[in-house]
Amino acid sequence: MSMPAPSSSPSVESILGDVFGYAAFRGPQKAIVDHVVAGGDALVLMPTGGGKSLCYQIPAIARQNAGLGITVVVSPLIALMHDQVGALHEAGVSAAFLNSTLSGEEANAVEKRLLRGDITLLYAAPERVTTPRFLAQLDALYERGQLGLFAIDEAHCVSQWGHDFRPEYRALTVLHERFPRVPRMALTATADDLTRADIVERLQLEEARQFVSSFDRPNIRYTIVEKTDATAQLLRFIEREHTGPEGRDAGIVYCQTRKKVEDLAQTLSKAGMTALPYHAGLDSAVRQNHQDRFLREDGVVMVATIAFGMGIDKPDVRFVAHLDMPKNIEGYYQETGRAGRDGLPANAWMAYGLQDVVNQRRMIDESPAGEEFKQVMRGKLDALLTLAEATDCRRVRLLGYFGESSTPCQNCDNCLQPPAVWDGTEAARMLLSTIYRVQQHSGISFGAGHLMDILRGKPTEKVAQFGHASLSTFGIGRTLSEVQLRGVLRQLIAQGALAVNAQAFNTLQLTDLSRAVLKGEVTVLLRESVSTPADRKTSRAKASAVPPAAASLDEAGQQRFAALKAWRGEVAREHNLPAYVIFHDATLAAIAARAPQSPDDLQGISGMGAKKLDAYGEEVLRVCNAAPTPAE
Ligand code: ADP
Ligand code: ZN
Repeated sequence: MSMPAPSSSPSVESILGDVFGYAAFRGPQKAIVDHVVAGGDALVLMPTGGGKSLCYQIPAIARQNAGLGITVVVSPLIALMHDQVGALHEAGVSAAFLNSTLSGEEANAVEKRLLRGDITLLYAAPERVTTPRFLAQLDALYERGQLGLFAIDEAHCVSQWGHDFRPEYRALTVLHERFPRVPRMALTATADDLTRADIVERLQLEEARQFVSSFDRPNIRYTIVEKTDATAQLLRFIEREHTGPEGRDAGIVYCQTRKKVEDLAQTLSKAGMTALPYHAGLDSAVRQNHQDRFLREDGVVMVATIAFGMGIDKPDVRFVAHLDMPKNIEGYYQETGRAGRDGLPANAWMAYGLQDVVNQRRMIDESPAGEEFKQVMRGKLDALLTLAEATDCRRVRLLGYFGESSTPCQNCDNCLQPPAVWDGTEAARMLLSTIYRVQQHSGISFGAGHLMDILRGKPTEKVAQFGHASLSTFGIGRTLSEVQLRGVLRQLIAQGALAVNAQAFNTLQLTDLSRAVLKGEVTVLLRESVSTPADRKTSRAKASAVPPAAASLDEAGQQRFAALKAWRGEVAREHNLPAYVIFHDATLAAIAARAPQSPDDLQGISGMGAKKLDAYGEEVLRVCNAAPTPAE
């Protein structure tokens, strides 16, 4: 790929077909590729799974073919660079990475290849890119006209409003200042306006053309359930939706604390799953090992804090579950987006409860950040709470948050099973007036448990101690269940009609909005609390016996598919790469469906590029024809 041959350069379409084995560009890919090949700057906002990698990989190949030199890909994902480069090698593209995992000798070898022009794509961590040594090497390439493109991946890392702020990204402005003639593209799956504006400003991309895709992920089903017993709920969810005769699906479960991660990983393991913990407190070798196993083995459930996941390009993650609520919609969208990159059905499932609201509010209040920052964070949290409490389409709200309008999706819990809504205005007034009276009576505030006891007329010790049985509201909420009252409480807090004072034992206090509710000026429509979410039927069929990619194959096809998968596993182990880097499930399924007899039969299968056909074609034919055929 390194010989300049501008006149006979293949078109970007033929690179797509020959190198990657794909028939057509997706969505805005073509426009982006053309713009960058021609030397334009670009800001690419595309959801996870949208196909960002090709947006810089194809221009990199095209520009190298045209004699314009190498592409430097700046990425914070050190742990994944090895696999990314491995995937390019499999496709026959010359690529390398430079990061702290290489020995001095290995790094020297890469630098030599770099200066020889023997690399098409070089992946490097931001802290590496901005060292004087590396910049001097880029100078040498620049002078010879051999610096073809900068691709800044995960560009939201430059912004403190993004969820993965990396101060090293700020130093990347040097690229534009020092190499003004080299086109730059920044790519991210983070869509909110604040972050986008920040990326443009921080990376000086004012002149760059912006390519904004739809952020919809139609294959992801969103479900948010009320948290009762989170672990039991999660177990039931995985059992019901992600367990089949062939085993379990791969998934990610997010929890807030390291301890919870550890405990839950143990619980899931005891329940027979392959569940691995991942958090920043683990030794880095253990973390890397767990990540490798998640990427390389089938059916691993990763139990993790948000330290896990950025850049994970495993295509067949079938579910992402949240046992604790993220900080904001960006985080929720980003984390859930790791499910279903391959476009096949996947679940985003979250259990959410009163304690989540309280914890998140407290973390903001107690953070050392300035008041202005806290205000922004509170606003973002409130948007997520609104999503969690919503009784209408989750997707419409999610996309609405990112400025996209849409119609009800028929693929979220609220669309599939519209929740019952009840008028909670009266219950809300009872609750608020109890808080008011208790405060008047005792001069102090109380927490949720005691207030509910008063409402439900329970003669507890505390009630006796403070004489709260004498209050006019004692027992007026007898007809309401505890679950209902908790629902009212949570939703009032989520809506800002009640405040939780974290500094004073999580006591509840009235807000300006509570007065409006008390006066009857506001109607409070509440989501019917569901005491046993497990009993709720989802319209989805039980997990099928076969992976979704192979669902439409006949019996002989299934046999070929299984044989191909086993073969792929061996190749992947030999190459020390995840299986999907060799071939995706979808590619194996397409091969199995075709029952190929000759190399010609393998032409035009999506994901089968020229290099792979050459390297694996014969093996694939052999494996297909050796697969047992089902008995008559
Ligand atoms: P992102 O980085 O945006 O999350 P990727 O670049 O990992 O997404 O692409 C997601 C998946 O879609 C990958 O498996 C990739 O091979 C596949 N893909 C991307 N573009 C195309 C295309 N034009 N045709 C077929 N598959 C594609
Ligand atoms: Zn919906």
